[in-house]
Amino acid sequence: MKIIDTHCHLDDVALALHLRENIELWKEAGLSYFFLPGICAKNWNRILNLSHQFPEIKAGLGIHPLFIEEHDLHDLEQLKNLLKLEKVSFIGEIGLDFFTSRLLQKEQEDFFTQQLKLAQQCKKPVILHVRSGHNEVLKIIKDNNFTQRGIVHAYSGTQEEAKRYLDLGFKLGLGGTLTRPNAHKLQSIAQNLPLDSFVLETDAPDMPPYKYTHPNTPNNIVVVWNKLAELRSCSLEEVADVSTRAVMEIFPHEFF
Ligand SMILES: [Zn+2]
Repeated sequence: MKIIDTHCHLDDVALALHLRENIELWKEAGLSYFFLPGICAKNWNRILNLSHQFPEIKAGLGIHPLFIEEHDLHDLEQLKNLLKLEKVSFIGEIGLDFFTSRLLQKEQEDFFTQQLKLAQQCKKPVILHVRSGHNEVLKIIKDNNFTQRGIVHAYSGTQEEAKRYLDLGFKLGLGGTLTRPNAHKLQSIAQNLPLDSFVLETDAPDMPPYKYTHPNTPNNIVVVWNKLAELRSCSLEEVADVSTRAVMEIFPHEFF
């Protein structure tokens, strides 16, 4: 029984210590692969290096919407060049985050659109980070005829928006939030939509499950995995099988 952590930041300093030993322990706990999204240009090399060192690590490069102020067109050029030189599994995490403010809406939308176009050009899926911007993200995906699909990480939208993502071929990432007792909206989405709509993630070292403390680790995916099985009244095996197949559907070139 194996599960994939589709979103963890193993390049983060909080998880840097004893990484090789820890990856072995996490694999014993049931993890098979770890997807590492980039958030800013300065962490791209570390992510690539880790993916060279560990066959279990899948590298993604991208500029997170909350870090665009540190970046300019030169970084998008660098991203384009790295995509030609390196084995990168996806573009991410990219998207829109208007949770605290819409001050940089135009700039966020520009960076997102440019990176989405890049993903389309090099035929890579995307991992999306979206908070309070689902309508805008869905519109940009449609307007740009983006067809490479991807994952909406730490899904936070409505059930109606979830269906629109599924229609575009996306999967929804479920993490620590699912385990919070007050996460009624997300839990009902997890119960109502087909099981193959979902993939699991930890976002380690962030977003620990309910009652767990920082730093979160990929090990804690077991808590999310159990919660989803409980909500669906199904076995852990079924969640593992269906979610692993869902990941393979989005990343068909990564596992063979
Ligand atoms: Zn993240």
